[in-house]
Amino acid sequence: MSPTVVPATRDRLRIAIQKSGRLAEPARALLSACGLSWRESRDKLFCYGESLPVDLLLVRDDDIPGLIADGVCDFGVVGRNELDEQAGARARNGLPAAYREFRGLGFGACRLMLAVPEDWQWTGPTQLQGLRIATSYPSILANWLQAQGVDARVVELSGSVEIAPKLDTADLICDLVSSGATLAANQLKPVHTLLDSEAVLAGPVREHDDQRADLAAMLLRRMDGVLKMKDSKLLMFRAERERVSELMRLLPDADPPTYLAADVQGPLSLQTMCHGLITWQRLEELERAGAQGLMVLSVERSLA
Ligand code: ATP
Ligand code: ZN
Repeated sequence: MSPTVVPATRDRLRIAIQKSGRLAEPARALLSACGLSWRESRDKLFCYGESLPVDLLLVRDDDIPGLIADGVCDFGVVGRNELDEQAGARARNGLPAAYREFRGLGFGACRLMLAVPEDWQWTGPTQLQGLRIATSYPSILANWLQAQGVDARVVELSGSVEIAPKLDTADLICDLVSSGATLAANQLKPVHTLLDSEAVLAGPVREHDDQRADLAAMLLRRMDGVLKMKDSKLLMFRAERERVSELMRLLPDADPPTYLAADVQGPLSLQTMCHGLITWQRLEELERAGAQGLMVLSVERSLA
């Protein structure tokens, strides 16, 4: 690790994120949306927090669980697949759980799946008895096989797992899948999901007992505000009083409405936070049910 990285202090939080790769940009964007900004050092492994005492450590995703376990970092943004794999490996080695998942972050979605040659007829887990399965997730796979009562050989590979059946180093694979295009390009088909994954905020099992506790609480609250509002819109409209309950029935994903100037004659003005997608079709439906002057507003953040 870079010599510019100083040991953890008691009054600044340190968050590990991926330096480059699929989770790097969305992790930064999320933290920026939480009001964090950084002065970047020249080697860009350590970014000093400017707006708040929250620093970033830019690392390989594989290192993030260990950095939290060792107390070098207070939080990390990492795939659930990586976190669970390393937690499983720790447990198998008799080590205690040293971190936990705090929040699912809604990006980096993928699934850890079994994939077999296209011409196979998949009949279920018992079919795997005695076979060789190539994977970069040996602990998750071994735990799953054990739970299924299946005795198969786990062939651990650090990359290019999907080529293993062609090279005859394995009969099938267990790998991350998002679109499925890589599998198809290697004449494999996904047949069973072991884990639904996404990027998560991971942190220590034990809470901090110094100034970092307040900072952590503030960060989590802001993050919830950002995550909750990500797909939310503020919907404003007018409607006759007797139409409101029917209109709200058309908005099952909305919060109870707030009435603006409820004491006036004529149509009521109201607003409601809607947490689902508001399509043109939904707006037209609301209009037919009596909503007037419909307006959809983006919401940037909220402490609601
Ligand atoms: P690093 O250099 O940091 O070790 P990496 O090559 O291990 O990078 P990436 O390929 O950037 O990691 O993937 C990071 C995470 O993105 C994965 O652990 C997983 O949680 C998520 N992810 C989402 N879709 C996919 C996918 N199709 N394949 C692999 N990972 C995916
Ligand atoms: Zn990695």
